Amino acid sequence: MAVERTLSIIKPDATSRNLTGAINARLEQEGLRIVAQKRLRLTKAQAEEFYGVHRDKAFFDSFCEHMTSAPVVVQVLVGENAVAENRRIMGATNPANAEIGTIRRDFGQSVEHNAVHGSDSPENAEIEIGFFFGRMEIVG
Ligand code: ADP
Ligand code: MG
Repeated sequence: MAVERTLSIIKPDATSRNLTGAINARLEQEGLRIVAQKRLRLTKAQAEEFYGVHRDKAFFDSFCEHMTSAPVVVQVLVGENAVAENRRIMGATNPANAEIGTIRRDFGQSVEHNAVHGSDSPENAEIEIGFFFGRMEIVG
């Protein structure tokens, strides 16, 4: 195993329900370190670019609308095997299918309103971190 970085987003459904601290506590309890974090409101163009891989999916427009509906908290997480670890801590995409004790099971409301985003590979993590953060904003 190697120490990795991953990009996490606390989504509008979670920030608007005041769950930022509760989600951060889960991440930290599970051993991930938050080494960069900021709250921002995504523009439509930013959401569509960030989630561009899903452009052709039926849910794309509705999902991008949700992602711009309220602030998000974007963060860089560091730890052993952080990409897969964060995916495990998050739980399955659909909260109804997520394991008990995962963030999505406990804080997600639907597949669209599922509380958090996490990078799906170390390669994509580096691309996604670069989308939001400059080198001087990441303090390990
Ligand atoms: P994950 O976030 O688990 O990597 P995907 O990359 O497949 O999942 O999808 C990106 C995001 O798009 C999901 O987290 C979810 O919020 C949203 N999404 C995925 N499938 C649907 C769907 N069928 N309806 C609405 N939103 C969806
Ligand atoms: Mg994904």
